Amino acid sequence: MAGPAKSSVEVVVVGGGIAGAFVSKSLQSHAQVVLIEPKDYLEIPYAELRSKVEPSFAERTLIKHTDYLPDVHIINSRATGVTEKEVLTEDGGSVPYDYLVIATGHLDSSTTIRDDRLEEFKQDKQKIESSQSILIIGGGPVGVELAGEIATDYPSKKVTLVHKGSRLLEFIGPKASKKALDWLISKKVDVLLNQTVDVTSMEASSGIYTLSSGEKITADCHFVCVGKPIGSGWLSDSVVKEALDPKGRLMVDKHLRVRGSQIIFAAGDITDIPEIKQGYLAQAHAMVIAKNIKLLINGSSESKLATYTAKSSAPALVSLGRNSGVAQISCFSFSGWLPAIIKSRDLFVGKVRKEMGLKA
Ligand SMILES: Cc1cc2nc3c(=O)[nH]c(=O)nc-3n(C[C@H](O)[C@H](O)[C@H](O)COP(=O)(O)OP(=O)(O)OC[C@H]3O[C@@H](n4cnc5c(N)ncnc54)[C@H](O)[C@@H]3O)c2cc1C
Repeated sequence: MAGPAKSSVEVVVVGGGIAGAFVSKSLQSHAQVVLIEPKDYLEIPYAELRSKVEPSFAERTLIKHTDYLPDVHIINSRATGVTEKEVLTEDGGSVPYDYLVIATGHLDSSTTIRDDRLEEFKQDKQKIESSQSILIIGGGPVGVELAGEIATDYPSKKVTLVHKGSRLLEFIGPKASKKALDWLISKKVDVLLNQTVDVTSMEASSGIYTLSSGEKITADCHFVCVGKPIGSGWLSDSVVKEALDPKGRLMVDKHLRVRGSQIIFAAGDITDIPEIKQGYLAQAHAMVIAKNIKLLINGSSESKLATYTAKSSAPALVSLGRNSGVAQISCFSFSGWLPAIIKSRDLFVGKVRKEMGLKA
């Protein structure tokens, strides 16, 4: 039996990361949904570092938007501005909206075509295989997970991890970051804290890197793994500019509407919600927003709208290669096989794929 007729209401979603993907999927059979995203694929971000040592893994982690959004109009362009009625795009378009969802978490410089991204992973693997010594710059989740993958799959390679902060993984507590440090040291990774490296110098191009302390280290190749900027620069001259906080995050109300607007929502890492920035929380935001837009389309009153409460002690998991990991749950932290079973083996890829209605 056919379901209720699809509404003619136009919902524009900007950003096709975890948050935007889940909002679009949840609304595609209820409204006219347009997704604006430069890439033609969703990348499951938790799996990025495994794909550098096992490029075939990326076949499952890079999902074409068209595979799970058959009823969404996808515009492969970058949004450049928002007025009260429309979103402007880099390719010169303007896309009208009745409801808008902003989900541009972080600026992503990855290539926009899925096949090219697959090729990048193959090149990364070649780079790792052809190097005896590897320098990783940045001790956040990307740098630590990459060091974990290389130390596990290539135990004979010399890995050096340089981090400008006084401890690794500053987004989680000191006990969890110490566990990650101890594991890396046990795998003979050289971890240098409170240091920066200039990778643009002439010397660096010949494999000699000078640290901020003046010390020189040598490495056959390097990976820059520093955090990406928040993806809100395109909003600085837009109708929501007053809702940007000093860090460039969008302030939202309890219904996840952008402060000062009744029809513009925000989800995921771009929001100012006081909780750690995690994909499963971005997904939870997406569900609240999808529910609220459906309610609004059906004429529900304000009092019926769903609310979102910040998860101030949300769990976090960082993988350390295929067989280990570190977890922080509330005030407890632990490492070893249990986080590996939860995250490190499949990096939640099967889970996300199933939720997208695809074969795990
Ligand atoms: C190494 C690593 C491991 C992680 N592990 C976990 C984990 O185990 N579990 C977990 O829950 N979370 C994990 N996270 C965090 C998680 O990846 C993020 O919280 C999540 O990706 C946020 O999703 P998002 O959709 O808000 O933003 P993003 O993933 O940043 O997506 C934003 C999208 O917006 C697009 N965009 C940006 N600007 C524009 C524009 N102007 N116009 C159109 N599109 C634009 C980008 O191309 C991108 O596709 C991990 C993160 C890292 C880096």
